[in-house]
Amino acid sequence: MEYCLTVNNLSKKYRKFLALDGLTMNVPKGAIYGFIGKNGAGKTTLIRIICGLQEPTSGSYSIYGAPNSSKEIYASRRRMGGIIESPALYGHMSARDNLRQQFLLLGKPSFDGIDDLLNMVDLKNTDKKPVRNFSLGMRQRLGIAMALASDPDFVVLDEPINGLDPQGIVEIREIILKLNRERNITFLISSHILDELAKLATHYGFIDNGKILKEITKEQLEDSLKKRIEFKVDTDAELCSALDETHLRYKLTSLTEGELYGEISISELSDILKSHGITLVKVTEKDETLESYYINLLGGEDND
Ligand code: ATP
Repeated sequence: MEYCLTVNNLSKKYRKFLALDGLTMNVPKGAIYGFIGKNGAGKTTLIRIICGLQEPTSGSYSIYGAPNSSKEIYASRRRMGGIIESPALYGHMSARDNLRQQFLLLGKPSFDGIDDLLNMVDLKNTDKKPVRNFSLGMRQRLGIAMALASDPDFVVLDEPINGLDPQGIVEIREIILKLNRERNITFLISSHILDELAKLATHYGFIDNGKILKEITKEQLEDSLKKRIEFKVDTDAELCSALDETHLRYKLTSLTEGELYGEISISELSDILKSHGITLVKVTEKDETLESYYINLLGGEDND
């Protein structure tokens, strides 16, 4: 697999405080990588480091295969765009003028492409309205357009949906999905709320206390959120044959107890077991939610 970003055993100390503690993560090319962790977990620190705004204390990272210690890292970083903390915008200027400034800053030969960017983030009708009068959602969308001005193929967004209303969240989500699908832009998006990212992320990295607790794909996450049925039966005779008949994945935890993973009604399960001469003694349906998955991962800590 090709990676936009690989981070290897990276640490960052602020005086005695270890903000990143041997963090290792991999962002595959083409992914929308949800970088999830509660406030203070170390997300912004990692993002600042990979954007070249801070130096790590130890460890390394590579962007498009260029190690941070090499000269090639500068060329790789030019393929990146991003918003860290909040977008840097001129409040007295319009969206178009902010983009013009960004184009000038990047040394672009013309302003071609600004209309396309304004279209992309649905700000084409804001005319001369100064950015200070924009809603938070409009500012975030303009921030994304600014990040796209350099034509990046890897975009890093730090908490892009923080504080937005549901409509604002949907708008940002649609823009990200569109850019990912149509322009094959890879995204690294940090958030402290898993739910916010669950509708768009293809990969997740869960960070806590400066370490990655788990990296998981969308499919693996969905699998582990599938319904689970815990059961106890009266006999182990023919139990496996009966369970095979459900066509679901299962695990036995003792001779007469186990778990089934997937959708089956209790009556259907009971009928299958009965046809093999087995009686259900106890059955419990468990439905893991994203939130309980996340809390379990954090070891039951509060995720505020
Ligand atoms: P949030 O969602 O609140 O932005 P985060 O996951 O982005 O959280 P960071 O901003 O990376 O977390 O901060 C990680 C830890 O490092 C926090 O405990 C923070 O107080 C600390 N920290 C960050 N920057 C500095 C600094 N310049 N000096 C000292 N400590 C810092």
